[in-house]
Amino acid sequence: MASGLIRSLGRGHELRLVEPEEVDAAIDDSVAVLMLTEVDYRTGRLHDMAGLTVRAHAAGALTLWDLAHSAGALPVDLSGAGADFAAGCTYKYLNGGPGAPAFIYVAPEHLETARPALSGWMGHEAPFAFDLDYRAGARIERMRVGTPPVIALAALEAALDCWDGVDMADVRRASIALGDLFIAEVERRCPGLELASPRDGNARGSQVSFLFDEGYAAMQALIARGVIGDFRAPRTMRFGFTPLYIGEAEVRAAAAILEEVVAGRLWDRPEYRMRSAVT
Ligand SMILES: *Cc1c(COP(=O)(O)O)cnc(C)c1O
Repeated sequence: MASGLIRSLGRGHELRLVEPEEVDAAIDDSVAVLMLTEVDYRTGRLHDMAGLTVRAHAAGALTLWDLAHSAGALPVDLSGAGADFAAGCTYKYLNGGPGAPAFIYVAPEHLETARPALSGWMGHEAPFAFDLDYRAGARIERMRVGTPPVIALAALEAALDCWDGVDMADVRRASIALGDLFIAEVERRCPGLELASPRDGNARGSQVSFLFDEGYAAMQALIARGVIGDFRAPRTMRFGFTPLYIGEAEVRAAAAILEEVVAGRLWDRPEYRMRSAVT
């Protein structure tokens, strides 16, 4: 998205990629926008949103946070952090279903000046006037492009109903405990796997990743046994924890099945090695 936008703008911006540990040091006054995924999709490593936003603003940069692995996984305080923009999806920890609508956030101070890249009719100040001149809608309404996907939104609304009355701090506490338990169980049962996530639960999102050379086939074998994680090349096995419906018993059972798969080399079958488009 960033490379495409740079090309569309044609104003000579440059996409600089830096390692997570080097982000802080890479922020200087040549940076226009600090764009970060708060929780790294591979390792689950969590960035300090508030601290990095302060750093970016001091250097004159805007911040854009990707909340794909944050929304529904941990408390997010965009306004408390002073974040400028955010985007996220609702089909991961919010259970909206594949293809569920995404969301964006624009800080109130930018609402009158931020221009949507796509000036769609539903973002017009008066969509049903069918004006030939585009006039941006008043505030966040201008970010709407076309007709909302109502059927997908209805499914998402039902998924979000589950969160009524849920305190994210409770979810966070339970999520860290489940992640800690999974790490302890897997390290005890599968010494050949290497932890790729921060050991400190406060430095992780709601996922735990382990490295294993046969991770792809092993994940297929796990899925065949009802333990649904995923795989990210070259050798990351990724497990997400959703405390609203996953508890200690499931975490222990998943680790036991992982041990069977690894210790018994159950992954070593041709059908588990066949790569599919979705991993
Ligand atoms: C899943 C994910 C997204 C969502 O992308 P979609 O196009 O909505 O599927 C965005 N960013 C990151 C880092 C993700 O992991």
